[in-house]
Amino acid sequence: RATGKVYASAEQGKAPFFSGTILDITERKQDEQRKNDFIGMVSHELRSPLTSISGYIQMLKIKAAKSNEPTITDIAEKAKRQVDRMSGLISGFLDVARLGEGKIKLNCERFNIARLLTDAEEEVLATVSTHVVNFANVEDVIVNADIEKIGQVLTNFINNAVKYSPFNSTIVVSCTTSGQVAKISVTDEGMGIPVEDQAHVFERFYRVESEQMKVVKGFGIGLYICKEIIESHGGKIGVNSKLDYGSTFWFELPVDQTE
Ligand code: ADP
Repeated sequence: RATGKVYASAEQGKAPFFSGTILDITERKQDEQRKNDFIGMVSHELRSPLTSISGYIQMLKIKAAKSNEPTITDIAEKAKRQVDRMSGLISGFLDVARLGEGKIKLNCERFNIARLLTDAEEEVLATVSTHVVNFANVEDVIVNADIEKIGQVLTNFINNAVKYSPFNSTIVVSCTTSGQVAKISVTDEGMGIPVEDQAHVFERFYRVESEQMKVVKGFGIGLYICKEIIESHGGKIGVNSKLDYGSTFWFELPVDQTE
């Protein structure tokens, strides 16, 4: 890659000259490729034993239920939750490796955003007991998108809102339309993000460095995946945030207007 300017020679008959820098990015690209291959391979290898562990836990639960051992059932459920958590992390790394190779495959279909929000509400009711989550302004709006991947983005926003805001605070999920665009947003009353970090939180492996944030575990890949998903749909993603007041993470998708 070269950056710079070609100047026309002041003197007639002389060759124009180039001023600037020439940077060889082949090596950097190969390095990226190796990194992606490595992440992909490790994630894949970690997945198979985890699937077996999941199976054994399931067997344990069945046995415990048969012999009426509630303590064992309880332990098995706790183990299962941890396995699911690890499984989610591995899927994240696999997504990162695939995205690095430019492989994002969309299975688009027409669906109502209200359906997506209803599913998310059910999931939240079953899994979030630490916060008040309100689903407001749910408008009927049809988009043509990959419902699973868009659901993944919404879940990521909600999980982050839970992670980065205090117990018992309120989280508001909403969907509004303006013109030909549907906007889905998740607002929390959490720690907020400093202005200088706001543009970077969607970058791969980026995490805000502060004493408050350190307490919360993470790898800084969730929002990067969200950005890739939304942009591959031709949409926009962003955040409005005020330090110590809270954040609104949002994404926009074009409304499908075919009859
Ligand atoms: P992770 O949460 O695993 O670190 P993400 O990619 O989801 O990774 O988020 C990147 C960073 O953006 C987080 O580390 C955190 O610093 C910041 N962030 C994300 N969501 C929020 C939020 N709702 N409130 C405050 N900070 C947030």
